[in-house]
Amino acid sequence: MANLYRHLPSVDAALAALLEDPELALLPRLLLKDLVNDTFEALREDIREGSIEDPAGLKLDVLLPGLRVAVRSGARPHFRRVLNATGVVIHTNLGRSILAPQAMEAVSDACAHYSNLEFALETGERGSRYSHVEPLLCRLTGAEAALVVNNNAAAVMLILDTMAKGREVVVSRGQLVEIGGSFRIPDVMEKSGAILREVGATNRTHLHDYEDAINENTGALMKVHCSNFRVIGFTKEVSASELAALGQKHDLPVIEDLGSGSLFDFGGGALDEPTVQQAVAAGLDVVSFSGDKVLGGPQAGIIVGTKRWIDKIKKNPMNRALRIDKMTLAALEATLRLYLDPLTARRSVPTLKMITATADELKVRARRLKNRLGRDLGDTATVDLVPGVSRVGGGSFPERDLPTTLVTVEPSTKMAADELKARLRDTTPPLIGRIEDDRFCLDPRTLEDKEFQLASAALQQVLNAE
Ligand SMILES: *Cc1c(COP(=O)(O)O)cnc(C)c1O
Repeated sequence: MANLYRHLPSVDAALAALLEDPELALLPRLLLKDLVNDTFEALREDIREGSIEDPAGLKLDVLLPGLRVAVRSGARPHFRRVLNATGVVIHTNLGRSILAPQAMEAVSDACAHYSNLEFALETGERGSRYSHVEPLLCRLTGAEAALVVNNNAAAVMLILDTMAKGREVVVSRGQLVEIGGSFRIPDVMEKSGAILREVGATNRTHLHDYEDAINENTGALMKVHCSNFRVIGFTKEVSASELAALGQKHDLPVIEDLGSGSLFDFGGGALDEPTVQQAVAAGLDVVSFSGDKVLGGPQAGIIVGTKRWIDKIKKNPMNRALRIDKMTLAALEATLRLYLDPLTARRSVPTLKMITATADELKVRARRLKNRLGRDLGDTATVDLVPGVSRVGGGSFPERDLPTTLVTVEPSTKMAADELKARLRDTTPPLIGRIEDDRFCLDPRTLEDKEFQLASAALQQVLNAE
């Protein structure tokens, strides 16, 4: 065994051979050397474990193809593009919303050039970064004032810190949600210094439950959108307008964490979520929602409400620590401008386009994807269509199924579906799909037409390697 180590080529010889490949020669030498060292370390481990016994397997020209693959894959950026074929539109693990072309262009402009980020072009004096989106948000939502912070979690924290620090906030027991990533309403409340006052029961909360809890230390009444679950059966929830009226009667502000917060009216049916406009019209004092959920913009926490309260929130020193950067601002303004015409928004904002895609459209697109894969994959796989459902995701529209047509891919080698799914995570770009009834499936809802070719190439990479 000791002998085998001596058959390993030198790192320098391996490096020299790799550098003959012009693509690899472009890599920083230090990185290349580290990657080669890692591969050699793995080879020594194989020798130690006895899984390599023949010295012929350690010749440089035998090792070279494997080395090239290892170096190429090790040199890829860690954060990279993937193909989302899961059918989950707002997939938090896959980056939530993708931006409209108009928003991408605005981001690219904002980061490549100087801008009037905090400069008033009219007066030549210092301006406010929020001036770029506040009037737009007011026009779109009907609110008097608006503010944007890093994300909706930050928005909720900032709102509570400003409006209810050291005072009680009355919330229904049915709305004490955890949305994942350790964001739980009771914990956020505690961290912000507000005191949670739970009322009602898990399934039913009445207006008098809120009213009975009001005392001299009450700071606010709050509603939270039940993002990722649904209470069905014998239930009762107090509406935004009832709660707003109660707040007015007792001179208490009423807050709502809308979660996803849509500016687009999906027109009921399966997608019967209240819009931000409706929440504002109901008379709530302050409403917050995410920029990258149903809105389809960049990560952001948008706060709209009465001038009186928004002014107070703007002055909170915590606001400075949660402020958004210029790229977010550029993407958000461009996205919001699309909403000035709802039809344009539906056509151009990818998240809206994917959510509103009809079953018929998806059937046509699924057929197109199936034909392409059938042609490209030849006899390496069987490609078929089955009816299925997609989900909006991102904690919006829980338990609401969106009808779709899935494209199934079954390798002729009888490779198991979960094996195929795992191997597709290592293709360029990775193809992320899902398994239904033991078959690997692609949902065209979240794949763009121009990605069909990449999805096919990813499948070929795996199936042809077999
Ligand atoms: C998603 C969500 C949040 C957090 O929003 P982020 O923008 O992810 O920080 C807060 N509250 C509710 C109800 C949510 O659904």
